[in-house]
Parts: sequence; C-alpha cells; structure tokens
Amino acid sequence: MSKKIYETDAQTMADLTAGKETVWKNPRYVPFDLVRGLCDLVVSEADIADAEARLARFAPFLERAFPETQANHGLIESPLAELEKMQPALEKAYGGKIPGRLLLKKDSHLDIAGSVKARGGIYEVLKHAEDLALAAGKLTEQDDYAAFADEDMQKFLGGYTVQVGSTGNLGLSIGIMSAALGFRVIVHMSADAKQWKKDLLRSKGVEVIEYADDYSRAVEEGRKRSEADPTSYFVDDEKSVTLFLGYAVAAKRLDAQLKEKGIAVDEAHPLIVYVPAGVGGAPGGVCYGLKRLYGDNVHCFFVEPTQCPSVLLGMATQKFEQANVRDYGLSGKTEADGLACASPSSFVTRIMTNLVSGECTVSDAKLYDFLRLLVETEGERIEPSSCAAFQGPVALCQAEGSVAYCQEQGLTPDRLNNATQIVWATGGRLVPEEIWDVYLNTHLDA
Ligand SMILES: *Cc1c(COP(=O)(O)O)cnc(C)c1O
Repeated sequence: MSKKIYETDAQTMADLTAGKETVWKNPRYVPFDLVRGLCDLVVSEADIADAEARLARFAPFLERAFPETQANHGLIESPLAELEKMQPALEKAYGGKIPGRLLLKKDSHLDIAGSVKARGGIYEVLKHAEDLALAAGKLTEQDDYAAFADEDMQKFLGGYTVQVGSTGNLGLSIGIMSAALGFRVIVHMSADAKQWKKDLLRSKGVEVIEYADDYSRAVEEGRKRSEADPTSYFVDDEKSVTLFLGYAVAAKRLDAQLKEKGIAVDEAHPLIVYVPAGVGGAPGGVCYGLKRLYGDNVHCFFVEPTQCPSVLLGMATQKFEQANVRDYGLSGKTEADGLACASPSSFVTRIMTNLVSGECTVSDAKLYDFLRLLVETEGERIEPSSCAAFQGPVALCQAEGSVAYCQEQGLTPDRLNNATQIVWATGGRLVPEEIWDVYLNTHLDA
C-alpha cells in the first residue's frame, strides 16, 4: 500500500481539532526552485517591482496628507528591533533554548494604520485611486502625485465608493486611506471587531456597518453591496492579489534592514520568520516576497489561534477557502480579533501550499502573557493578535513537528545558533491607552 506522504499525520490533526497547541510541519513544502517558475506565472518579480514603484509615486501625496510619513520620505516602513531581553525571558518562562538572534519586525508601529494592513490595505486603495485617475485622464504616471491631496482630485474620487469587510485592522487601513483620498467608504465589520476600532473609523467619517456574525459573513455582505453599485470598489481580502503585492514589498525593505545590521542570510545563516495569520494575506505576501529573495535559506511559519487555524486547515486538507474551522469542531472564537477568520483566502492557501514551512497554533491565554513579558523586558506594546508570533520561537526545537522540520531541512544546532529569528509584530500603535490597561490586566485560564 502506498503511503500518503502529503497527508498530515493523524495525531497532529487530532490535537488541532481538539484545540490544543500544535506545530504543523507542512508535508507539501518543497525546495523553492521546484516551484519558482510556477509562482512567477501568478506573482512575478515585475509585479512586485510595479507595486514598489507605485508606492514610490505616491510618496509625495503621503507626505502631504500624513506628515508623520515625512521622516521616511513618504515610505511606510517599520523598524527592526532587537529582543535581547525578551529572548532569555522567553527561554526562562517556557523552557528550552531559543537559538540565534531574536528580532522584532515592528509593523505594529507602521505609520497611518498602526498595523501590517498599512502595507496591503493602503496599497490597494492607492492603486484603485491611481487606476481611476489615469483612466479619467486626471494625471499621468510622470506627474507629482501630491496632486491627490488637491481639492479637484478629491472631488473626483468623491464620486466613487470603496468597501471592505474586516475584523478591524483592514477596515482601519482602508477606511483611513480612502477617506484621505476623498472616497466615500463603507467598512463592514464582523462581530469580533473591537469597539475602539469602530469608534476610530466613525470619527474619520467612515461609514461602519456592524454584523452580529463572523468575518466571512461581513465580507460576503460587503461584496454583495459593492457589486450592486457600479461606482463601488470592493477590497476582497479573501482573494485579492493586489493586497498580497502590497505585503510582498516588505521583503526587499527587510533585506535592506538586515544588511544595514550586518546580518547575513545564507545556508549557514538561516532566517526564520513567524507571522500571525488571519485569512493569510499579510503573512502570505510577506513570506512570498522573502522566499523569492532568499529561497530555501528562509523558513516561514504562520501562527494562528488554537480555535481558529483556518489557513492551516485550508492548506493541510487542500480544501483551501472551502475549509471552515467550525467543520473541524473548533469555535473560531478568539481574543485575537485580527486572526478571527474562520475560512482562509483562496489565493493565499494555494500559492503558499508549497512555500510555507509550517504553522504553530497558540492559546488565547498565552497572547496576554507574551504581551506582559514584552512590556516588562523591552517596554514595547503590540496588540494581542500580534503576540501570537512569539509562539514561533517558543515552539521551534520543542515540538515534535518543528524538531522533525529542522532535521529534514538541515537546520543543525550550529546553523540554528547562527540563525536570525524574526517575530513579525502585526499591530498595536493605534490601541487607545485605556484599552492597553484592559489588555495588560487580562488573565485567561490556559
Ligand atoms: C490582519 C492581521 C493579521 C493577519 O493578516 P491576514 O491577512 O488576515 O492573514 C495579523 N495580525 C494583525 C494584528 C492583523 O490585523
């Protein structure tokens, strides 16, 4: 009888569906060169370069509309910070050794939207504005895009609507940027969305429609309403390639930051990256860009809540967007509002099927523990959804799945000691002070 080599083993599936913390080693992971050609057909180097160039064209507008971006000349980028104190604190709290150097990529502190959505979400809105303006002959690619802040252009874009379904942060990025360009904007918020995010959006003149249902429903309703209006554009988080491109631009920016720090990425110096996943767009785009740059020398892991591992299930079962965590006995409910997506992206679960090394799941209780530890050791604050990423370095080399992965991929102890491990912080800067108090004082039973 032939062994089903692509099947996730029964014990891992049993742990997952029981809501236990699990490390899933992706059985379909292959050397990047085997799939590079196929990947190129979907998202090529030229596509990513095009996204980079578009963001550069918009820099003068961003500087004008959001003075906070002037320090970085209109480019939205985040610092890469050391976690010198958090690293030993994590080892002490959870046991085991975290090899190599641990860094924090602070997309939690990105300008304008205060989350990783400032990459994809903002990019898609800018692209839509440009498409409309170019088609109407309002400007050419050679013009100064500061013109997007002019009254005439804003009035033109005011004839169009942008809509999006969101658990919170995507809505914030789309809402803030659309409003700044003059668009009419409607955000369809799922029941998981935090009140402060809805309040903040309304204060910026964004129309927020709330649903008692989950994220997939908010997306479905938003999509339907947008389709009924020819002047409306829907940012479709469940399948958007444009969003993905905005996220993918992060890779070259990170590469420059690593070089600046004198950090090598090669066979002897692997890069290991952990990114929290909701529908998969942000981690997918970021990791796709990194795979293109570093090939097999980068190892990308997604992290999801124990009750909502939709991207993992979509890839492990190859049911992609048809996978719903509720069909596996999980509630889909989590304190990590940014990750509360019961079904994953159709596009991302397909393109990442052979590229992601694996996934870790993490309990809600731990998110708050990680947050407190980060505040105590480094004085940094990132929102609970973001803290999921810390499960990565804690689980690597501990859980059966990741030990096996390291062995298979030649991540020997000496190589791991030369590794750079990056915890991708995906949100936090816009969290109001009184909400930090709540977060820092939340203790859940494990
Ligand atoms: C949106 C979000 C993610 C994950 O992004 P997806 O594209 O939904 O996978 C992770 N963390 C935070 C804080 C987010 O807002």
